Amino acid sequence: MTDQGLVSSQLGSLHYEPALESSSLARLKPSYGLFIDGSFSDPGQHENLVTLNPATGETLATVAQGSVDDVDRAVKAARRAYENVWGKMSGAQRSKYLFRIARIIQERARELAVVETLDNGKPIRESRDIDIPLAAAYFFYYAGWADKLEHAGFGPDPQPVGVAGQIIPWNFPLLMAAWKLAPALAAGNTCVLKPAETTPLSALILAEILQQAGLPEGVVNIVTGDGSTGSALVEHPGVDKIAFTGSTDVGRLIQQRVASTPKRLTLELGGKGANIVFEDAPIDEMIEGIIDGIFFNQGHVCCAGSRLLVQESVAEEVLRRLVRRVEQLRVGDPLDKNTDVGAINSAEQLSRIEELVAVGEGEGATRYSSSCALPSKGFWFAPTVFSNVAQSHRIARDEIFGPVLSVLTFRTPEEVVAKANNTKYGLACGVWSEKGSRTLWVAERLRAGVIWANTYNRFDPTSPFGGMRESGFGREGGRHGLEAYLNV
Ligand code: NAP
Ligand code: MG
Repeated sequence: MTDQGLVSSQLGSLHYEPALESSSLARLKPSYGLFIDGSFSDPGQHENLVTLNPATGETLATVAQGSVDDVDRAVKAARRAYENVWGKMSGAQRSKYLFRIARIIQERARELAVVETLDNGKPIRESRDIDIPLAAAYFFYYAGWADKLEHAGFGPDPQPVGVAGQIIPWNFPLLMAAWKLAPALAAGNTCVLKPAETTPLSALILAEILQQAGLPEGVVNIVTGDGSTGSALVEHPGVDKIAFTGSTDVGRLIQQRVASTPKRLTLELGGKGANIVFEDAPIDEMIEGIIDGIFFNQGHVCCAGSRLLVQESVAEEVLRRLVRRVEQLRVGDPLDKNTDVGAINSAEQLSRIEELVAVGEGEGATRYSSSCALPSKGFWFAPTVFSNVAQSHRIARDEIFGPVLSVLTFRTPEEVVAKANNTKYGLACGVWSEKGSRTLWVAERLRAGVIWANTYNRFDPTSPFGGMRESGFGREGGRHGLEAYLNV
């Protein structure tokens, strides 16, 4: 490389040839039925929904729109399986099934990664290295608990709740399914899972995996459909527990519906995470952490570090470096292994992002968007940073759920704690500082379920995850995650 070439690559103009993963690895069928009582129904007997590839707008497959009757059949199948098989099985036996499911996820990881990327729009690098391995890790982790429940700290003989109705969003389709199913099954419950309308495919491949693992019929039922299918599940009197991950608005509605019933409830809702940067933070690592905190998964992350709070003395430098780094992000084909930022999951989500970004401009914040070329088909939004943001701005308060960062400043630790806590949410925060005592002082005062120190968006099956205030209640992951599925 000439000196000239070296300089230009250091400036970020290095050219990357496409390195495409093959979409044929997905082996998708044209249509899928519902997975109830161990087998797939004939797609012809249902009203159908279409699921798209958001990177192109093309149809990937049709899936069934689960009706009230379908939900009823699924809940009844789950009840039979609970009473006759799963609820009677020893923990050691249940764990064998969970280990088997985890191993088959690993065996079919490449196929699952491609399916997830096609259906969701996320970069293959993320589905391959994060979503799918973590989904397997959650099954492995809870497989280990199934025969040790009496040592989990919930009494000498904790009992399952019964039939769990589980509703998940589109941002981490397979991973959210694993977060819901693995602890429920380990604790001896049976399940009816409702995937999101725009990303049902990896859950349907998971249904094939459950068949492959020989999981007894009815232990897990997967009913695709839109919000009305989810609503039917919430309303069904045969469900003992509802576990929901999604928006705060729908969570609130579900809470109202469940309030007058004996059903148990856990809610994992939205967030507006504060990522806090002190002047002594190591700048290179911190810039990468900020980027990862907001642009991972196109910012479709409930715990995203979407509010950056920077100490005033370093704010100018941080912003300058951040903007330069954003310009280097590679946005485009999610199947390209070089891609950093993929497609927005749906036209609806894109219009929400566009609306809130327009509000930000209208409120007087300064917008910087990457000058990257966006593909002509599909749903796309250039990575964006807003500076000069005030706490009263909507882009500092509302969850945008897209690749948009709002930057605010502070002077003292007391001030940053007050600003970080000035939100209706309470899911996650990050603190960047070289000084451990300061990090701990701040962390103790932050009102959020998860606090990362000198890192962001780290997930691990051993670690509990969940929110406070309008981010919901209940914990998923770790020993704590079992509690939601046990009568304790
Ligand atoms: P959403 O609209 O609330 O949808 C979540 C799930 O609920 C989907 O399966 C949806 O079906 C279903 N649903 C919609 N209306 C329903 C109803 N009336 N009754 C029962 N179920 C219903 O949320 P989303 O737009 O998919 O996801 C984005 C939100 O999820 C963000 O706010 C994000 O912060 C939150 N989220 C939170 C976490 C967490 O762990 N805290 C994780 C991921 C996402 P359809 O898809 O068919 O509408
Ligand atoms: Mg889709």
